[in-house]
Amino acid sequence: MIAEILCVGTELLMGQILNTNARFLSRQLAALGISQYHQTVVGDNAERLEDAYRLALSRADVVITSGGLGPTADDITKRAAARVLGRELVPFPEAEAMVRQRFREYGREMHANNLSQTLFVPGTRLILNPYGTAPGAIVPAGEGKTIIHLPGPPRELEPLFREQVSPWLASLSGRVILSRYIHIFGMGESAVDEKLRDLELGGNPSLSPYCSTGEVMLRLTASGEDAESCRALLRPVEAEVCRRLGDTVYAVEDDDEGSLAKSCAEAFRRRGLTLVLLDEATGGLIASELSSAPGADEMLRAALILPRAHDTGSASAQEIRTRFGADCGLAAIAGDDETRILFSGAGRERSLSLHLTGDVYRVRTLTAKHALHLALSVIASPIRSGKH
Ligand code: ATP
Repeated sequence: MIAEILCVGTELLMGQILNTNARFLSRQLAALGISQYHQTVVGDNAERLEDAYRLALSRADVVITSGGLGPTADDITKRAAARVLGRELVPFPEAEAMVRQRFREYGREMHANNLSQTLFVPGTRLILNPYGTAPGAIVPAGEGKTIIHLPGPPRELEPLFREQVSPWLASLSGRVILSRYIHIFGMGESAVDEKLRDLELGGNPSLSPYCSTGEVMLRLTASGEDAESCRALLRPVEAEVCRRLGDTVYAVEDDDEGSLAKSCAEAFRRRGLTLVLLDEATGGLIASELSSAPGADEMLRAALILPRAHDTGSASAQEIRTRFGADCGLAAIAGDDETRILFSGAGRERSLSLHLTGDVYRVRTLTAKHALHLALSVIASPIRSGKH
């Protein structure tokens, strides 16, 4: 199956907002094993949007739109689709009930133009929206093709896709797709490739690498008639990949939300340990990463973020943990040509000296990742999460 994403909104073209919906949808489609060859961004202009629909429908089975489902005149996504399909928009009572309900919940007055949010092409399957006022839609587009409309705000689009669109797309193909995400730190992409090359994983399961600063993530994907047959394909390959990559593998997850910060917070939570940070090297990046991980509230006692080359005297990871009454202390101290990472706690003292090059963003990112990895490697042996 081929899908194409069509994001609608002049503010996207102007660079006023980042197109995170395209990124989210692309990752979801890849995880479902659905191919994508083109993506489009169109402003709020009916003619250009209609052209974009025609082109997308000529080359994809499913066209997924984001944005432009609101009640105002520039919200033209559904209207333009209806024109291209040569269909009328008609009121859907179920959509109207949903929109009225949402306005009641928000205690807001409903205006006449909000009724435009309840109009759809006959035959549409509604995506009722518990997260906002605009219902989404799965619209038959002829010749076995489909247009899927989703609202623009990511906090609506993302759960609606996960809960309603993804199962629908999966049921179309009649096959189940499962992935495992293997996270690697401390080995570059080419070294990883060299270790795995002779496995020749291009078919089922397939193995795809994704690189970010200092890290490699491998996505291992299998398709089968049911979840169990997918797992049976994944299990031996995952074990072999992990065996070859050794302790550079720090997590294996069922989704692509894994990160060093998440694994680190999880390891602290499992052992019921707390942490205090002293950061003179990343401008708060370590704390920012950690505090956005689930469970960080329980483990992160305090974070001291000081300017580079601030005189911390003899402050050490051990002193800060004692001073703040935490189980562990983690310090990142930037010197003239080296950055030191110090860890104290769980009965161990560890340190690491880094000589990093590149721009500030890269150096800070790598420093934060090394710091989190050091803490993780002391607190936990590599985490294997999930059901396998
Ligand atoms: P609403 O129900 O809020 O009217 P809508 O479907 O009409 O939603 P838009 O008005 O196009 O959506 O966009 C609403 C907001 O959603 C934008 O201001 C922006 O913050 C966010 N948004 C829209 N498109 C994207 C996108 N592609 N990526 C990330 N955010 C987006």
